[in-house]
Amino acid sequence: MPEYTAPDPIVDVTGAQDVAEDLVVIPDRGVQLVPNIGVIGGSHSVLVVETGLGPRNAESVVKFASEYAGGRRLYLTTTHFHPEHAFGAQAFAGEATYLVNRAQAEDLAAKGDGYLHMFRGLGAPVARQLEGVALRAPDVVYDAAHDLDLGGRVVRLRATGRAHSRGDQVVTVPDAGVMFTGDLAEAGQFAIFPWFPPHDTDVSGTRWIAVMRRLAEQAPRVVVPGHGDVGGPGLLADVRDYLELLRDETWARRDSAAGEEAIAAEIRALMIGRHPEWAGREWIERGVGCLCAEHPDDSAGE
Ligand SMILES: [Zn+2]
Repeated sequence: MPEYTAPDPIVDVTGAQDVAEDLVVIPDRGVQLVPNIGVIGGSHSVLVVETGLGPRNAESVVKFASEYAGGRRLYLTTTHFHPEHAFGAQAFAGEATYLVNRAQAEDLAAKGDGYLHMFRGLGAPVARQLEGVALRAPDVVYDAAHDLDLGGRVVRLRATGRAHSRGDQVVTVPDAGVMFTGDLAEAGQFAIFPWFPPHDTDVSGTRWIAVMRRLAEQAPRVVVPGHGDVGGPGLLADVRDYLELLRDETWARRDSAAGEEAIAAEIRALMIGRHPEWAGREWIERGVGCLCAEHPDDSAGE
């Protein structure tokens, strides 16, 4: 593993931004393994979206959310089971009802321990934040759709089906036109493909494209990506377009005599040329690997 050189993955609640009425985002400040965290208020309840990496980050989110709520009831949800999004849920025990889609709960149960191990191996700053993690099962699990009434405001929790992970969930606040996408969309970086064969091959490029088309059609006013700056609906279109191009370029080369490595190098150069300012270049090759495996000629499919 390369040494972890990014800043410590610490959530800084002091930078919370108003995104809509009674709705704030604690931004990631461009720090790796810090997610954008949402706090959404209604007249009697407040929903927190994402925990931050590990119990100490989550404790500062709980403290912030409790003060913000001012006596209103607290709920927690997470967009998917990945560590910086969900591995702080234990800090919300006794403070908030934890609610997620079933596929996400199953992802956490099946792969949580493996990801904990993998992320501890990323470097000391990450391992420090993961000290003392006890994976917490959600209190409430829904199948495909759940409307959460916060009092005068209904938040829509929707499972998207397999895309970035097996159990992605999108959270929308219709009255404010705000959508939290989790890692289905990132701003200023290449789409994150957690394609780690043979350990984890649940990410699906083709399904992800279908999800992004549907989300872009909803045209929310504000899009809160999993990582990167809060933006508008253009963010969803950007991700959709990138994924479609990645698929097309991968599939166009797939039958050439060049091996997967040579194909990946060519596509990497092409994509960097298109988006020279985007971070996360290491995810391009993983995306190519995923989409190669998803070529329609490979009937392995599911
Ligand atoms: Zn993720």
